Amino acid sequence: MKLADLGVEAAVAVRAVGEAGRLARSIQYEAVREALTKDDRSPVTIADFTVQGIVASHLARHFPADALVAEEDAETLQTAATEAVVAQVVDSVRRARPDARRQDVLDWIDRGRGTGGHRFWTLDPIDGTEGLLHGGQYVVALALVVDGDVQVGVLGCPRVSLATGAAAGSSEGRVQQGGVALAVRGRGTWWVVPMANGDLTKLSVSAVEEPSRARVLHSREGRHGDVPRFHRVLRALGAEPAPLLMDSQAKHVFLAAGEADLLLRFPSNAGFHDAIWDQAAGSLLVQEAGGRVTDLAGRALDFTAGRRLLRNDGLIASNGLLHEAALAAVR
Ligand code: AMP
Ligand code: MG
Repeated sequence: MKLADLGVEAAVAVRAVGEAGRLARSIQYEAVREALTKDDRSPVTIADFTVQGIVASHLARHFPADALVAEEDAETLQTAATEAVVAQVVDSVRRARPDARRQDVLDWIDRGRGTGGHRFWTLDPIDGTEGLLHGGQYVVALALVVDGDVQVGVLGCPRVSLATGAAAGSSEGRVQQGGVALAVRGRGTWWVVPMANGDLTKLSVSAVEEPSRARVLHSREGRHGDVPRFHRVLRALGAEPAPLLMDSQAKHVFLAAGEADLLLRFPSNAGFHDAIWDQAAGSLLVQEAGGRVTDLAGRALDFTAGRRLLRNDGLIASNGLLHEAALAAVR
């Protein structure tokens, strides 16, 4: 399979996310020193704004009519950040877009204020900020939603290594770190190595059927979930392997690749709903790899409720075979 055969949206999205992911990887250490604070107190980094600017610049060029619903905006950058930080974001974006003026960069970032509609893209420039800062996983998450369905899902994964398939290994036979996961509705899920312009290897979920053998993924950040409830459900399932704690939608990549079997997400407090960009790309990656995704009540994810998944409660993503057992354990 060639990227060009999967449609222009998939090709542009992989290039945009791959380029942004490589830049994020190169600036992550500066980002640590310059971490800002935003209302929800999660660290916002230079990488966040740089990635949003780069991805939005690709979408503006190829799909100027499409809305972008994204986590950041230029006003937050300019009010919350020092001038030195703004200048660093502009400089970082210019590494990929040497001709860009400061105002171009701010305008690209601001494209993310879109509100949805019949066809829109949704972006989390850095999903898993805690992972970025603490040496764990983080991803650049981009998805195209048309009439409520995710049609293309792309995750740029600078720190993921998959042993899946010959293309995952470098010419020296080592497993390369960093890749892009791509799903196209009706076509499948692939791992693209190296980021942005690599070869495609098809991914598929595991064949583990026994709940006792389930390798279960969960957020590493305890504040992002109801940890006591997670452990009660693990006991109800009888899952014996130690859970895999990981930041970001990198979890969905390991599930889609068959390196884990089940992913559970319990809201940390009643009334908390993930943003659409926290689940859109990851959910298609799992489904197109042969898995199943619902909320804790077994409902499909509804991406038409605004910026957040207001009509869903938590998440179960599985290889499909373990889904009914997981739903029963949650009940
Ligand atoms: P994870 O890396 O799986 O823990 O998820 C990271 C995502 O969790 C971030 O993109 C946030 O949007 C989201 N998040 C932030 N605060 C919370 C919270 N209190 N409960 C659940 N998720 C949260
Ligand atoms: Mg996020």
